[in-house]
Amino acid sequence: MSGVHTVLNPATATPVAEVPATGLDETDAAIERSHEAFAAWRGVAPGERATLLRRFADVVDAHVEELAGLEVRNAGHTWANSRWEAGNVRDCLHYYAGAPERLSGRQIPVAGGTDLTFHEPLGVVGIIVPWNFPMPIAGWGLAPALAAGNTVVLKPAELTPMTAIRIGELALEAGLPEHVLTVLPGKGSVVGERFVTHPLVRKVCFTGSTEVGKRVMAGCAEQVKRVTLELGGKSANIVFADADLPAAAAAAPYAVFDNAGQDCCARSRILVERSAYDEFLGLMEPAVAALRVLDPADEASEMGPLISAGQRDRVLGFLDDAEVAFSGSAPGGDGFWVAPTVVTSADPAERIWREEVFGPVVAVMPFDDEADAVARANDTEYGLSGSVYTRDLGRALRVARAVEAGNLSVNSHASVRYWTPFGGYKQSGLGRELGPDAPQAFTEEKNVFIAH
Ligand code: NAP
Repeated sequence: MSGVHTVLNPATATPVAEVPATGLDETDAAIERSHEAFAAWRGVAPGERATLLRRFADVVDAHVEELAGLEVRNAGHTWANSRWEAGNVRDCLHYYAGAPERLSGRQIPVAGGTDLTFHEPLGVVGIIVPWNFPMPIAGWGLAPALAAGNTVVLKPAELTPMTAIRIGELALEAGLPEHVLTVLPGKGSVVGERFVTHPLVRKVCFTGSTEVGKRVMAGCAEQVKRVTLELGGKSANIVFADADLPAAAAAAPYAVFDNAGQDCCARSRILVERSAYDEFLGLMEPAVAALRVLDPADEASEMGPLISAGQRDRVLGFLDDAEVAFSGSAPGGDGFWVAPTVVTSADPAERIWREEVFGPVVAVMPFDDEADAVARANDTEYGLSGSVYTRDLGRALRVARAVEAGNLSVNSHASVRYWTPFGGYKQSGLGRELGPDAPQAFTEEKNVFIAH
């Protein structure tokens, strides 16, 4: 190991644990062991692989409270979110445990023989996870990758390695063979970059910033390595005047301040039809004031701190030149706190309207009509998610189809279900995760012709 990293509790800025940082040689050795384990793992009969994944899910289920507690301390997530996140890993494993026995190919009619297709696993898959949702994002990659017969090396973010390390131990407890899932805490510039350059890693699943994602994609191009990118967002919440305004205003804070706004799907731009603009802001203000921003160790907390001092300072920097309409509360102390803040934006060129804040700040802007709303929503390099609030079903569908983003919700801000596809348009990503087709993204389709 090349040194240790001190993991902090972001609510109090106090140390939680010392975690070893994997060095380059150890990363290479782990990738080679993972490659050696691949031959046997791909050969495990489909029903047996399914059973092992179900057992893994059951062991995670038995440790939901423990995993959630780790995330409360390490990532500053609320108890409710942390329990959901641990449960999401369990559910992903259960769902994709159904895949090995269903990963069938096709028989295609041809002249002079029989033609068959097979979904062959790729080999070692490298999964690079950010700090904002350490457990779900690990699960979205590892569950379908393992189900399709690949082995996995997984790098958690340096700031939030605790739950991934524990999930790696639980895999062994559940009976997964050694080196089928290997968790390698360490630096992105060491471990993560080696996943990109090592020829035995056959696919990289990267979730993180658009800036690093572009570098990962360029690096993968050297070996024509398969790559999935889940990157940043600047999603719009479009509220029409005919919507149930009290419901839309009550939901809006949760659509952006959940996880203290450190959510790639955060609806961090709110577009409100001009005739309803003042009423909407008037309804939203008490909803923001009522948000319980507390130390996440308190079960009543609805929003915790930001992940680090650096992230807090970055987010506060956005407020220097922004027009604050109103804000909620935040505790004092040494933790990395920012109060949920609503700003108004008059000019789409403003930094607060264009850049991903990744913190509890939302910008609100009026629009004139449907075409204007769609044009403003699409005036961004990102395209991950978005919401449309209206009572007009035709308009809801027209606008949802017109917004250039991968995940739209109507009269809702829910974006993620493990059984529906998830991913971004434009610079929010490449490829899709989750949903029924995810295991196929971890395979090569092979065609075999047999002459009669
Ligand atoms: P980041 O700085 O890009 O880091 C993400 C991961 O990449 C971390 O594990 C990091 O390691 C690693 N990394 C850093 N440099 C690397 C390199 N040169 N090669 C390979 N790996 C490298 O992003 P972040 O700040 O942790 O996460 C926030 C971003 O993630 C936001 O932009 C957010 O929108 C995005 N996100 C997107 C989705 C989605 O599904 N679209 C979901 C969640 C988050 P270290 O820990 O050592 O830095």
